[in-house]
Amino acid sequence: MTKPTVAFFKFSSCAGCQLSVLNLEPVLLDIVGAIDIRYFVMAKRENFEGPYDIGFVEGAVTSPRELLELKKIREECSILVAQGSCACHGGLPSIKNYCGMTQKEMEEKVYSELWDLKSIPAQGIDYYVKVDAYLRGCPMNLGEFVTLVKSALKGINPLFRYHSICNECKLKENNCLLLQGIPCMGPVTAAGCGAECPSLGRGCEGCRGPASDCNAASLARTFADMGLSKDDVVRKFRKYAGNTPEFSKGAEAL
Ligand code: SF4
Ligand code: SF4
Ligand code: SF4
Repeated sequence: MTKPTVAFFKFSSCAGCQLSVLNLEPVLLDIVGAIDIRYFVMAKRENFEGPYDIGFVEGAVTSPRELLELKKIREECSILVAQGSCACHGGLPSIKNYCGMTQKEMEEKVYSELWDLKSIPAQGIDYYVKVDAYLRGCPMNLGEFVTLVKSALKGINPLFRYHSICNECKLKENNCLLLQGIPCMGPVTAAGCGAECPSLGRGCEGCRGPASDCNAASLARTFADMGLSKDDVVRKFRKYAGNTPEFSKGAEAL
């Protein structure tokens, strides 16, 4: 059987999602044996031009150059996957969209020499091109990555479910942090990580983006009732998925 050709690309991001792929030790050799990795600059010396069967894209689009590259990648890949919250929703780079500065002011604040720098607001890749599947989270969840690769090999849709983190948290019988006065984004955030942070006693920060039918405005008001300032509430909702209409409702509720 011919192995599917696969490529990994990176835009504005920390490279943590690509690194996660390399950290898949228990199954890495099985995966590498089942697919033909044609392009993965972080991991391979020899890389090849497309077309590819599956393209994984990490990172937000933050410059005209990245946008041009993304459009070319879309043309070259039969299946395009957004890998991690930066590619799915804009992620941490999208904080800059809401910091109250112009693009130029931000560029000058961050870089001492601007050379030919041109930046645009940070967006997830589906703002510009059609995306076939999403691996949410910061970093992406490795179990979902393996499920997606297995599904692609079988030619089926992985069908991830996006009920709230609270469902996973309750199944683990955790004591609810919100009831203990700790702000937690679990009620509005999409499940899939196994309620990782609340299980360790830390409030969810919303890295997987909005759950289905979430009521972010209501959670924002709950945070305010708990004593969070308006600015802190905005930071909660603009941290990982502030570009989404759902989390924007939370950021704009007060
Ligand atoms: S989603 Fe998180 S881990 Fe992945 S590239 Fe973006 S910042 Fe890094
Ligand atoms: S701790 Fe957070 S995720 Fe868990 S049940 Fe409470 S609000 Fe939901
Ligand atoms: S609990 Fe929330 S912040 Fe933590 S990994 Fe899951 S979605 Fe991300």
